[in-house]
Amino acid sequence: GGGSSEANSVSYAELWDKSDSLAAYLLDNAPVGKPVVVYGHKSALMLVSFVAAIKAGLTYSPIDVAYPADRVNDILDQIGKPLVLDLSDCGFTGDEDLTAGVLPEGVVSEIAGLGGRIDPSCWIKDDTPFYLLFTSGSTGRPKGVQMPSRCADAFLRYFSRFFPLREDGVSFNRVPYTFDVSLFDLIPGLAAGYTLYALEAEEESSMKASFEALSRSDMTVWISTPSYVEMCLADPLFNAELLPKLDTFVLCGEVFRNATALKMLERFPGAKVYNTYGPTETQAVSDILIDEQMAHEISPLPVGTMNPEMKAIIRDVDSGEILGCGELGEIYLAGATVSAGYYGRPDLTERVFGEINLDGGLSARCYRTGDKGFVDEEGRLYCLGRLDFQVKINGFRVELGDVEQALTRLPAIKEAVVLPKERDGRVVHLVAHVMLEDSSLEGDLSTAIALKKQLSSIVPEYMIPKKMVFHREFPLNNNGKIDRKALA
Ligand code: AMP
Repeated sequence: GGGSSEANSVSYAELWDKSDSLAAYLLDNAPVGKPVVVYGHKSALMLVSFVAAIKAGLTYSPIDVAYPADRVNDILDQIGKPLVLDLSDCGFTGDEDLTAGVLPEGVVSEIAGLGGRIDPSCWIKDDTPFYLLFTSGSTGRPKGVQMPSRCADAFLRYFSRFFPLREDGVSFNRVPYTFDVSLFDLIPGLAAGYTLYALEAEEESSMKASFEALSRSDMTVWISTPSYVEMCLADPLFNAELLPKLDTFVLCGEVFRNATALKMLERFPGAKVYNTYGPTETQAVSDILIDEQMAHEISPLPVGTMNPEMKAIIRDVDSGEILGCGELGEIYLAGATVSAGYYGRPDLTERVFGEINLDGGLSARCYRTGDKGFVDEEGRLYCLGRLDFQVKINGFRVELGDVEQALTRLPAIKEAVVLPKERDGRVVHLVAHVMLEDSSLEGDLSTAIALKKQLSSIVPEYMIPKKMVFHREFPLNNNGKIDRKALA
């Protein structure tokens, strides 16, 4: 899988051999103990590179071509001179001086074909991070979540349920590799011998082209955000006739609306629909089958019952007291898939990771999610939004502070506040409230366009506010802080 055309696909036998060969090279040439950066989007060679890194006992860290140079450089700087495998079509946008070398696609492909071998004793294990994923950080710098190898093993034990052994398993490898949901088929899908089916760039360019590719896919398990399914559902052609073998939907990453679930069940009467939940810092921790009755009767939908190796603990937001069934508080997640924390950032790690005593006196690693929620009497977890300024836009995790910091880095901007515009419980776009450095200027549409253009060299497209509102001053609250409510 990894590309739906023959030209951009790789068989399991090839994946094995090529990754072995590339791993042998990495073992000798990549900086010892340092994550290997794999830069690109969707391609078979991306997959080969990930597997090669982990066979060489090295962490892989994907960077998507959607990231502008500034963000790429920030990540390189945080890792500290990693080796970069550049598998993009358009060339590496980062600063080569911040790397230990950049191998272009042609070279990577050649090394993968050399027939080198790696001893299984080199493979990644235990506490070495299997992957390092950078997610939005509230202070304007992305933070790298490290997932130890043993956590990846625990995740595999849990998530294999969605990848039953079958001859003809095909999963939708839709999600960018920089997003934790991409591991849903990367780990259990590969382990079960599935075909991972991704869309080529041209196929992603329009819904029509996407649907044509989907109709050729023989897909059996769908993995995406609810936003993406909603985009597909907008076209009546998205139904069981388009995907006759599809029997399972696994959704994750943001609020799954009842209306969406009902529509899916109507269009795909034979398919099972699952809602799943979990932040990058723990991987998916819960899942639940959503049937018609539940979609009619329970709103918002539960996000699942827990992975047996994980526990959800609800604590009072102010006192930290552990709450009982039905009581609303902050969700803490403890157990086998809690990550090791943020790469090179013990300060950030300490703030949200720790140990907690579970029933029976066992101590477990724990992550404080920042999500509001509760557990019902049947042990089902509910997630009712955030306690902070993190949002999801089309499934992408964004800290509003990250966008605000990027805006204030533009010379023309003095201060900025970014607010989410919501519809039906979901963020539809961002609105930037801006004070210009030169207070004699009236911001107008052309100012907004120019600022957005500048912003696009700092942050990826999905973080750029759709609307800009210019202010001479910001309203302040009693504490003298910017009054976000009044601005909204
Ligand atoms: P990410 O780290 O990108 O996976 O984002 C994790 C965050 O997305 C969680 O902390 C939640 O706020 C939100 N989220 C993930 N899955 C769900 C879900 N099924 N329902 C509601 N919110 C979700």
